[in-house]
Amino acid sequence: MTALVIAEHDHASIKPATLNTVTAALACGGDVHVLVAGANAAEAGKAAAQIAGVSKVIVADSPSLAENLAENVAAQVLAIASNYSHILFPSTANGKNVAPRVAAKLDVAQISDITKVDSPDTFERPIYAGNAIATVQSSDATKVITVRTTGFDAAAATGGSATVETAEGVADSGKSSFVGREVTKSERPELTAAKIIVSGGRALGSAEKFTEVMAPLADKLNAGLGASRAAVDAGYAPNDWQVGQTGKIVAPQLYIAAGISGAIQHLAGMKDSKVIVAINKDEEAPIFSVADYGLVADLFTAVPELVKAL
Ligand SMILES: Cc1cc2nc3c(=O)[nH]c(=O)nc-3n(C[C@H](O)[C@H](O)[C@H](O)COP(=O)(O)OP(=O)(O)OC[C@H]3O[C@@H](n4cnc5c(N)ncnc54)[C@H](O)[C@@H]3O)c2cc1C
Repeated sequence: MTALVIAEHDHASIKPATLNTVTAALACGGDVHVLVAGANAAEAGKAAAQIAGVSKVIVADSPSLAENLAENVAAQVLAIASNYSHILFPSTANGKNVAPRVAAKLDVAQISDITKVDSPDTFERPIYAGNAIATVQSSDATKVITVRTTGFDAAAATGGSATVETAEGVADSGKSSFVGREVTKSERPELTAAKIIVSGGRALGSAEKFTEVMAPLADKLNAGLGASRAAVDAGYAPNDWQVGQTGKIVAPQLYIAAGISGAIQHLAGMKDSKVIVAINKDEEAPIFSVADYGLVADLFTAVPELVKAL
């Protein structure tokens, strides 16, 4: 029984989501291999070989894999899929783009967004915005799985000594082509990797106030900035800051929610944070039910005071 983890990488290094996915793969009980499908990706392959618990890294190098086009990456996975009992992807935009194509071609059911491995064929996953946990058993020969990375600790990025093999890269499928990429550049930590997140809600009232009140707190704490959907929909914060069921799922060491009511769809994205601090002027706000520390206060005075005190 061997599990294959599809690495998330930028050709030169391995992205953190890969490490959590390796932990999930190890919990499946057998050997763990990692596929680095890229172009000039030897460095990423070397980094993957350092991950604790991984026994083999397969580097598939081809110009067709330079831009991570889902059709080509899926073909690359399928080229070696028959060697594996489990194929695991991080539940990121990339992973979710490739996994269903692989599952469909293998004619198996995808097991999505797992948070726990009970046994090699039985997995737990949240449903109804995290209000219930479904236990899913699969009798498929190959389990194609996406892993909710916040459900698993990261494997150590160093300390391993996997062998590195190369595999022939697949030819371009011709089904899609790369046109361009616009990447948000930010000095702040990326939300899904941030150790601390400060999030603002509808209460901020405007984009200007959001920046004026929340940014200094994020700067002081070197935190990522998040937002509720109401704040995003109102244009106070950009779309990629949204935390929740239809935004990002995060589990930082510290999550500070200011002026966020705590609707279940928001909680679905952050309730696994290690320490939750809520600032809300309504003591009945549901966010207090998940908060470790709650402050019933007006955020327009409390947040600047907090910044001053830090
Ligand atoms: C299918 C679906 C998916 C969804 N996905 C998401 C999602 O991914 N993420 C998400 O966040 N939401 C999501 N929502 C929306 C969600 O239901 C809530 O509407 C949203 O989270 C509310 O945002 P909010 O807490 O900022 O606003 P509100 O609910 O309006 O809460 C504002 C809070 O601020 C407090 N407040 C007001 N003024 C102050 C002040 N001066 N100082 C301190 N506190 C103050 C109020 O007491 C209140 O609790 C989804 C909804 C649906 C139906």
